[in-house]
Amino acid sequence: MSDPSALTSEALAAIGKAQTEQELERIEVEYLGRKGGRVSKLLEGIGKLGPEQKASLGKAVNEAKRAIEAALAAMRAELEASRLADLAETEAIDITFPGPPLGRGHIHVLTQVRRQIETVLESLGYQVELGPEVETEWYNFEALNLTVGHPARENWDSFYFNSQLLLRAHTSPVQIRAMQRIKEPPIYIITPGRCYRRDAPEATRLPYFSQVEGLAVDKGLTVGDMKGTLLYMIQSLYGRDRKVRVRPSYFPFTEPSFEFDVTCGICGGMGCKSCRHKGWLEVGGCGMVHPQVLRNGGIDPAQWNGYAWGFGIERMAMLKHDVDDIRLFYESDLRFLEQF
Ligand SMILES: [Zn+2]
Repeated sequence: MSDPSALTSEALAAIGKAQTEQELERIEVEYLGRKGGRVSKLLEGIGKLGPEQKASLGKAVNEAKRAIEAALAAMRAELEASRLADLAETEAIDITFPGPPLGRGHIHVLTQVRRQIETVLESLGYQVELGPEVETEWYNFEALNLTVGHPARENWDSFYFNSQLLLRAHTSPVQIRAMQRIKEPPIYIITPGRCYRRDAPEATRLPYFSQVEGLAVDKGLTVGDMKGTLLYMIQSLYGRDRKVRVRPSYFPFTEPSFEFDVTCGICGGMGCKSCRHKGWLEVGGCGMVHPQVLRNGGIDPAQWNGYAWGFGIERMAMLKHDVDDIRLFYESDLRFLEQF
């Protein structure tokens, strides 16, 4: 007959090594089973003992039972906890749970800015006019007063399919096409669209970009009409505190021609690092339509005159959102795009 405390130690050691619920059940039966359990067997010879010995053995057996039961319960709790932890890791999907919300995208910042420009100018009576991205040499250059051999053609160098067909370098060909189509002024159009130039990608330019140009053809239009229209557009997009200015420049398709500037949004025109201490930022070019360009569009310059302007949509978005690298618009980096 073994002694209760030795048997208890043996049972606790076995419980401590158990890895599964089944092992614990086996240990429970072995030690605490009603018939043939090793703890019960300790009482087998109790009848032969004296009353004091009986009492002391009975007490020792009860203590052994309680100790083994407590150890079994503690080990069961431990095994259950680790089983749940494993489950949480390997079967993390709870199909009764509502799914995560769908990640919805939004309109690209360049499309947002293009639509804002369209909305502002449509409110002034302008119509959106679209044209082909593959153009003929005549529409891209000749019709815009950039005759063969004209040195300014270099600034609009593009990608050629052959000597007559190329990717348009600006949306100006759409102005010619619109004049030919509409025939009878007044004409008030804007021409948003993709353009191509033979430029290496860098912080301020890309070989592909978007432009929006405006063309107004009517009777007796002035530089003041043009400047007022552009002031209204700039203030609608950037805020009423912006000022604009025109500076004399040269383009073959306008006469007179101007560079168009807007006050820096960061310093308000005082001069800061962002505007290189000029207080002004260049937006694009503009001017009164050259009579020859009107003629090429089928309009009689003796009766009608017009103004036109051309801005880069990326440039306008950069000014609106203070973006310093044009390539960010095309890199599809959500960390950038989600800001707008
Ligand atoms: Zn500034």
